[in-house]
Amino acid sequence: MNMSIPSFLNMYNELISSPSISSSNPELDQSNKLVIEKLADWLEELGFTITLEEVPFSRNKLNLLASYGTGTGGLLLSGHTDTVPFDEEQWTKDPFKLTQQDNRLYGLGTIDMKGFFAFVLEAIRDIDLTKLKKPLHILATADEETTMAGAIYFAKTATLKPDCAIIGEPTGLIPIRAHKGHVANVIKVIGKSGHSSDPEKGINALEIMHQVIARLLKLRNKLKTKYHNDSFQIPYPTLNLGHIHGGDAANRICGHCELVMDMRPLPDMHLEDLYELLHKELKPIMQQWPDRIAIEYENMPIPGYECLAQSPALKQVESLAKHQAETANYSTEAPYINQIAPAIILGPGSIDQAHQADEFLDMDFIKPTDLLLKKLITSFCL
Ligand SMILES: [Zn+2]
Repeated sequence: MNMSIPSFLNMYNELISSPSISSSNPELDQSNKLVIEKLADWLEELGFTITLEEVPFSRNKLNLLASYGTGTGGLLLSGHTDTVPFDEEQWTKDPFKLTQQDNRLYGLGTIDMKGFFAFVLEAIRDIDLTKLKKPLHILATADEETTMAGAIYFAKTATLKPDCAIIGEPTGLIPIRAHKGHVANVIKVIGKSGHSSDPEKGINALEIMHQVIARLLKLRNKLKTKYHNDSFQIPYPTLNLGHIHGGDAANRICGHCELVMDMRPLPDMHLEDLYELLHKELKPIMQQWPDRIAIEYENMPIPGYECLAQSPALKQVESLAKHQAETANYSTEAPYINQIAPAIILGPGSIDQAHQADEFLDMDFIKPTDLLLKKLITSFCL
């Protein structure tokens, strides 16, 4: 055992005590530097070569790549260093301190997912790295919870070619090989308000939105009948009308209406194609009402991803995890990491606790996770 890095629980606590909140609100957004510096220190201590890169389009955030060994093949263990913001009123524990209670480890990021790095370090500490024949890479990304800028930049610039990538999001140690994408749009209709007694004086935004919604429901049915993937419990792309706001008084012609909706494309649908479909569907109304309809993204669209069921890397991971891979209904960095190597989402803890107050790791995961990580490293790198 390598004693030069802190104990498992001390590393876990240090990661949780280093705030690294990502938020699109600049007042809440924090740099991930504290977490990255700790990981760099520990991994360097274990003999890894560290590369730090500033992530473009981020507020002072870094990606870390740590490599032991060179060349192609081997294994990439990947995670994000940021957390979501927290609701102070709902937390009964200190989010920035590891609290051990009732066989649980509480803290912000315990399962989503700074804790994963403590597991990785603990597993590596026990392995004689000098015996590895293929490289072992550890990737720590920035801004997963907001823009995915860290993973996007890494996928664009990385030159490594591992045989497999594991993303340690909380899957209850069940391998996940695919998820749908997520695209949220805001549709804005600008009408012209006026007194309701004379309809000719205005243009009613609600009435135009009525046309828009009719078209969207048509698109929803097209998506359902045209596209299909049996790996998913809901085997077609969905379209949901989320919320709508418009108008202000019964006696005024509605001057402005906004609809927020989302679509969940299947893995093989490109985001550009989905954009095309939506714009094509609404084009006739946009031509009928020039400059009165705008389609915007509510946040960064995330593509779907799939690691093919017959991929050798997946087969190997399934046999080590003793569990067949499943699909998920949440989004991760996998679409980007999958451009580098077959990416499988697999980590300790339950997704049910992610983004929740009093986030915790069930300590029953500690032993099996440690064992599985050691098996993954030796199986892919020895
Ligand atoms: Zn996560």
